[in-house]
Amino acid sequence: MVDWTPVTDALNLTQSECAQRASVVHAPVYAISIDLTHAADPTATTFTSHTTLIFDATGESTWLDLVADSIESATLNGQPIDTSGYDGARLPLEPLLPHNTVDITARCAFRNTGDGLHRFTDPQDNNTYLYTHFEPTDARRMFACFEQPDLKAQFEVSVTAPSDWQVRSNQPAVASPAQGDVTVTRFGRTPLMSTYLVALAAGPYATTSDLHVIERADGSRQEIALGLLCRQTMREYLDEQDIFTVTKQGLDFFDEHFGFPYPWGKYDQVFVPEYNIGAMENPGLVSWNENFLYRGGATKAQRGQRAEVILHEMSHMWFGDLATMQWWDGLWLKESFADLMGYQVAQAATDYPDGWVQLALGRKQWAYTEDQMPTTHPIVATIPDLEAARQNFDGISYAKGAATLKQLSTYVGTDQFFAGARAYFAEHAYGSTTLDDLLTAMEGASGEDLRDWARAWWQTSGPSHLTPVVTRDGDGAITALRIEQHGVDHVTGQGILRPHRFTVSLFALSDGSLQLLTDLPVTLTERSVALPEAVGLCADLIVLNAADETYAVTALDERSLATAGVALAQVTPDLTRAVAWSTLWGMVRDGGLSAATFADVFATQTISEPNPSILTVLAFLGAEAVGTYTPQADRPGQAARLLQVCLDQAARTAPGSDEHLIWVRGVAGLAALTDACSDEVAALATLEDLPTDLRWRLTNSLAATGSWSVADLDAQLAGDDTMTGRTAYAQAIASRPGRAVKEQVWKALTDGSPMSNDHRRALLAGYRQPFSAADTRADLPAYLDGLEKWWKTLGQTDAERMIAGLFPLVDVADGDLATHPVLTAVRAWLLEHQDAPSALYRTVQKALATAERSINAQSAY
Ligand SMILES: [Zn+2]
Repeated sequence: MVDWTPVTDALNLTQSECAQRASVVHAPVYAISIDLTHAADPTATTFTSHTTLIFDATGESTWLDLVADSIESATLNGQPIDTSGYDGARLPLEPLLPHNTVDITARCAFRNTGDGLHRFTDPQDNNTYLYTHFEPTDARRMFACFEQPDLKAQFEVSVTAPSDWQVRSNQPAVASPAQGDVTVTRFGRTPLMSTYLVALAAGPYATTSDLHVIERADGSRQEIALGLLCRQTMREYLDEQDIFTVTKQGLDFFDEHFGFPYPWGKYDQVFVPEYNIGAMENPGLVSWNENFLYRGGATKAQRGQRAEVILHEMSHMWFGDLATMQWWDGLWLKESFADLMGYQVAQAATDYPDGWVQLALGRKQWAYTEDQMPTTHPIVATIPDLEAARQNFDGISYAKGAATLKQLSTYVGTDQFFAGARAYFAEHAYGSTTLDDLLTAMEGASGEDLRDWARAWWQTSGPSHLTPVVTRDGDGAITALRIEQHGVDHVTGQGILRPHRFTVSLFALSDGSLQLLTDLPVTLTERSVALPEAVGLCADLIVLNAADETYAVTALDERSLATAGVALAQVTPDLTRAVAWSTLWGMVRDGGLSAATFADVFATQTISEPNPSILTVLAFLGAEAVGTYTPQADRPGQAARLLQVCLDQAARTAPGSDEHLIWVRGVAGLAALTDACSDEVAALATLEDLPTDLRWRLTNSLAATGSWSVADLDAQLAGDDTMTGRTAYAQAIASRPGRAVKEQVWKALTDGSPMSNDHRRALLAGYRQPFSAADTRADLPAYLDGLEKWWKTLGQTDAERMIAGLFPLVDVADGDLATHPVLTAVRAWLLEHQDAPSALYRTVQKALATAERSINAQSAY
């Protein structure tokens, strides 16, 4: 029997109680004052937060959300509120009148976990900075509010801070009278928006600005002030020209295609360290993970990925910020749309034309992997409460959602798709929406009934599997080709058939040269479809879903597999080649193809790969194939073989060129798995002009194999004694092999000492270096013991990280799927803990499924 902490319960919010509150509370307006006068003093652990909240009510009572260390004063309509009912998260409000005013002064905590109001100090210059991250429900850590997305409000924010600081919020400042050392900055009142979108950045940030003017065909124009912020020691890496260019291209594209002028006035983007996610779409003040500022240079493929994130967040200014999901079960509605826009608009409107390639070969792997776990769910999920909501920021809501919207766009046509989006914004601007609202808009624009389509795609779980069934005559000509689909809904156990529209490409191999024979459009609505047009063709390679129009796990037939082994690099266009690689990778991931075969194709085909975006992903997958899906006994040999390929290619390309950097990235991944060639790897790690993050990757790998000593790591730190460098150094120290090191890392992670989110991530990454599974095996009992404790004592984000990161590494030599001692022990834990909080249970299930996948693939080796 486990005594679950009441704090978790108090922080949770359920859909039903929020729906009830929305029927009582109307038209809230907030005035929020935050005092950051002493924020730079490390002994100050809290700040003063004052909120005046005006709202109408049609009931007698409700509650306010506020996570504060203390409430200094609180009144409702001039009468003191009895705060004895405050449980650390909710403050009861009664009696309510038709019109109400609440005044609350509280002391709230500075955070170092990447949520609420996060504070950090740069060790290089001792400057202190702050930023907020509130999604889904951490606004209540900075001010008292009704924390649910459908209770949209207008916000007036003012901040008291040192006069030499930059202070930004969603709207431009309207007044900032200096009062000596401190200044009170007052920001304009926002349009209607949700609490999770309120944002603040404060500190001596370095800034730069620009102006974008949209000139429309009807003669109207709109000026949008652009700003970029980062900490001062990162200023030299702020690639403002590239970021501003993509930002302007995106604003023009969305203005034209969404038909609704940018609604939030200005567009600031702030780059911050210790950020839990990639970026966040706060209206007018997008916050960014600082890893997107590349220290010492980056390849075009990397900048392309940044462009996709710029456009993802920007599309949210309409899809998510302007029209917002009513409750968190509609999270996918904004995320899948933004994810699709990131790739599609990068392709259509910027100088980074690999958006579709990145979606096919990169992003969608996240979806395929998570959609085949027992924890998968329909895109339209039931989200009873916040703990469930937090878990659905996953590969289903983002990548699978984006992939299915791409299929919808293929199904109804791109023009109709955007026309539907325009109708949706026009109808629901500043409002709350559900799936039905989007479907109605898309049906109006396309003239199609989409209800069955939506049910098949969005209300079932698991991927469709598409398989080519081909027969050939003695000369190799196709005598029959059909495509079969099958799928099982992991939630209901029922078979699922979905409507698919996609292309099949057929290629012939002649004298070593691969030629496209034909592209066949396919509509598949039943269990199988015949392709009579293929009969008579001597096709050596058949690629399903060749333009990546649909979302499905596909396979290569035997002959196609053999052809891929000798001619995959010749497949054109790039998108079809990316799909062919994705197909191959899926077969390895799902245990249908040996990682050794993948390594063979990698060794012969990557060296002729012409597309840098594809090569960037492959450099990562090569290491993954060896590190995760190859048995430990064969790992050093396979790693050494592929490492040699990467080293040779790196030696053949000009230092500093994109190709060179991509191959060195491949080296860095593989060098963690073998101590072969360590002198050559070390020589790369000490190359001049290498991007700093890449130098640390190489350093980490040399540490992981024991090739470099602590003194070597110290020398690398001396060359980069920065906030980022110290984190990378901590990871390298934790990556070293041997039981003694892992014991130290375990202790540091679990002894309860305070630790920033970035530091925790670094230690976990080091702990999980797959050089030797034996190093972590002894921690299995402590792991099982720790699960409940971490869930109770850490926030959900950190607890989930610990559960995934401390899962012992598994090797097939210790047992197969049925007998492996780690797998059987965790399964037993799950059986014994079916009463555990569902989010904890699901996190453990996911970690187990990941290990099972690894053992399954190793068994197929
Ligand atoms: Zn998003």
